[in-house]
Amino acid sequence: MTGKQGFCYDSLVRDCYRSGGYVYAARPGDVTGKPGVTRVARLASNENPDPPSPRAIEMGKAALCDANRYPGDQVTGLVSALQKYHGPYHFVTGVGMDGVIETVLRTFVCAGDRVAISTPTFSFYGLAAMGQGADVISVPRENDFSVDPVRFVREAADAKVSFLCSPNNPTGTVTPASDVAEILEGLSGILFLDNAYVEFCNEEYRPLMKKYGNLVIGRTMSKAFSLAGLRVGYAFVPEWMVPCYTRAMTPFSLNSVSASAAIGALEDADHVTRARERVTRLRDFVCRECRFPVHPSGANFVLVDVAPHKGCDVAARLAGRGVIVRSCESFPGLGDHYIRVSIGEEWEMKRFLEEINCL
Ligand SMILES: *Cc1c(COP(=O)(O)O)cnc(C)c1O
Repeated sequence: MTGKQGFCYDSLVRDCYRSGGYVYAARPGDVTGKPGVTRVARLASNENPDPPSPRAIEMGKAALCDANRYPGDQVTGLVSALQKYHGPYHFVTGVGMDGVIETVLRTFVCAGDRVAISTPTFSFYGLAAMGQGADVISVPRENDFSVDPVRFVREAADAKVSFLCSPNNPTGTVTPASDVAEILEGLSGILFLDNAYVEFCNEEYRPLMKKYGNLVIGRTMSKAFSLAGLRVGYAFVPEWMVPCYTRAMTPFSLNSVSASAAIGALEDADHVTRARERVTRLRDFVCRECRFPVHPSGANFVLVDVAPHKGCDVAARLAGRGVIVRSCESFPGLGDHYIRVSIGEEWEMKRFLEEINCL
């Protein structure tokens, strides 16, 4: 679009938003209608196939009736519910954990500051850091996708904020809490530990909050709690961080319906237990039955090495047969021969195995 004297408005756009951006998984609408596809297996976004807890739905509906008022009480109520669920920690909330990540970066990172990221991993850390004008450095994982704490500390030494994801998206790798402690000892900046999938593994990181004043643990209601569509995230933060985070945050960003539904979801612990049991059972089943190598995972997905095929070819082929998985080519530093497969319902995993095992 051009204006006066042929001026190009799009030249106003910042360089970091001229191309690239978040890569979204395929959706059922992209594949239904293909011949022979009646039911689509949705294994690309690590969602919980179970609908939200009835308690979450009930509380969300009730909050909708008060939607003429700005949120406030509901968000305070969510913090209390989190303290009831987890214990006496300090919390901040956001529009998904993505929103929390963005606010944490906004709180600490000026243009030119360093942000370190343990890669390959979730792409949004890098995108959000770029949005702050940060100088992003990636610290590669080892060949088995484990994290070497000594190397991480060395390369992230002068970073304002560092990101470590455990269980890691897309590899599923769990970093032991003792290694996270070693990293925290060595860093002078903030460590953002992304625990989006922690409900699906047996590692416990929360006690680290008691000892380290530079640790933020990000959590989400999108995965185990079945609330992806409502965009609720939160973080365990040291007490000193609460007021500055609050000042940096967009006012009223978490809406009252989402906050209320999240309170309801936290009251239904059985919902998460069921998801955890299903994931553990079906993750083992997929590891056993898949004819390609599957990486050990502590999450509700597995990384499958489909070499000599390319991830994008396999994902496209499976999509054509009604099984949506994620090609991992958009994860920098991973290589082109991987797919990420969410652990869905039993019929979905059987469909995936039928298709993958005849490649
Ligand atoms: C899904 C995911 C998130 C963010 O989830 P929200 O839906 O924004 O709460 C954060 N980190 C990782 C690694 C994820 O996979």
